[in-house]
Amino acid sequence: MGTDHRAVWVIAEQIDCHLQSVSLQLTGQARNLADQLGTSVEAVLLGDHINQQAHRLIAAGADRVYLGKAPELEIYQPELYSEIVINLAREHQPEIILIGSTDMGRELAPLVAGKLKTGLTAHCIDLVLDQDMILEQRIPAYGGLLSIVCPEKRPQMATVAKGVFPTPEPDDSRAGETLMIDIPTNLPGRIKTLEIIRQAPQGVPLETASTIVAGGAGAGDRDGWDNISELAATLNAALGSTRPAVDEGWTELETMIGQSGKMVSPEVYIGVGLSGEQQHMVGIVGARIMIAINQDAKSPVFEQVDIGIVDDCREFVPLLIRKIKAYQEKKVTC
Ligand SMILES: Cc1cc2nc3c(=O)[nH]c(=O)nc-3n(C[C@H](O)[C@H](O)[C@H](O)COP(=O)(O)OP(=O)(O)OC[C@H]3O[C@@H](n4cnc5c(N)ncnc54)[C@H](O)[C@@H]3O)c2cc1C
Repeated sequence: MGTDHRAVWVIAEQIDCHLQSVSLQLTGQARNLADQLGTSVEAVLLGDHINQQAHRLIAAGADRVYLGKAPELEIYQPELYSEIVINLAREHQPEIILIGSTDMGRELAPLVAGKLKTGLTAHCIDLVLDQDMILEQRIPAYGGLLSIVCPEKRPQMATVAKGVFPTPEPDDSRAGETLMIDIPTNLPGRIKTLEIIRQAPQGVPLETASTIVAGGAGAGDRDGWDNISELAATLNAALGSTRPAVDEGWTELETMIGQSGKMVSPEVYIGVGLSGEQQHMVGIVGARIMIAINQDAKSPVFEQVDIGIVDDCREFVPLLIRKIKAYQEKKVTC
């Protein structure tokens, strides 16, 4: 199937008029793909007071930015944003649409894909072109990477988390055009976001932490989880988690590391009561030293870490906390 020189699109995202880093990262990757396809990179950015952000997208690799500016677009509105993107995509027929796996992207991408009757691969960790110039959308699965393609429908759509691709160095000498989009006044309005209230992050942020303690299903219950959380606090580390810990309600989604969570690169990662499933481990490929505590000596997590401790975390972790605290107190009194 030929590409027909249709553009590679990035649906960029701003919060409080600040462009999200994943949008720049996707623009950089879109540039790589577009160069191979012999086509252009186009970004769509919706908001208010966002002119400056269009220049940043061009400096990151976009040839054209469709800018939708209106007070009602200042914060993400699911119906309004999706209708605008769908109408634009129908008009310009992009070959590929990339969207960040952010709170906005996770909702917007399926809304757009559904209406355009095309495929969507969520939480990709790599995007390459195959020999027929079709987008291979790679996700971790079955102990390796699974390539998903959308050979017939267009656009090919994928979401990608922050940190999967590097942020390109801005090239302020790049030329590009900014086209203002007309915002139709007769768009649906069943849902209106009035305000987005952000919860202040608790503890050490995962993204910048030098030490991370991540807990999994092996915590067993709330008490077991509290031990893991206390271990993180004792080490002044950020608290991370696997999906089951979030599903159990022990911790917030914001702590989840992995394919559909956060990508992190600490100096030290300590995984407690988790099995080392790939969807989690892809999130910590940047870690320097990896330690795992698991009661099952045959757990696959031990094949992936530098130091393995075989023990019941419900007994080992409280003991470890006591030892660390005793050591910390000794250091202070010396
Ligand atoms: C599309 C998709 C995306 C996903 N994205 C993510 C993601 O971003 N992040 C993520 O984490 N998961 C993700 N998952 C889920 C992922 O596949 C795994 O199910 C999950 O990571 C497993 O979590 P776990 O290791 O905590 O649980 P389990 O696999 O159940 O492992 C629990 C481990 O705890 C050990 N254990 C039990 N009791 C104890 C004890 N008392 N002491 C010590 N060890 C004990 C067990 O031996 C076992 O190894 C995704 C799945 C899919 C399909």
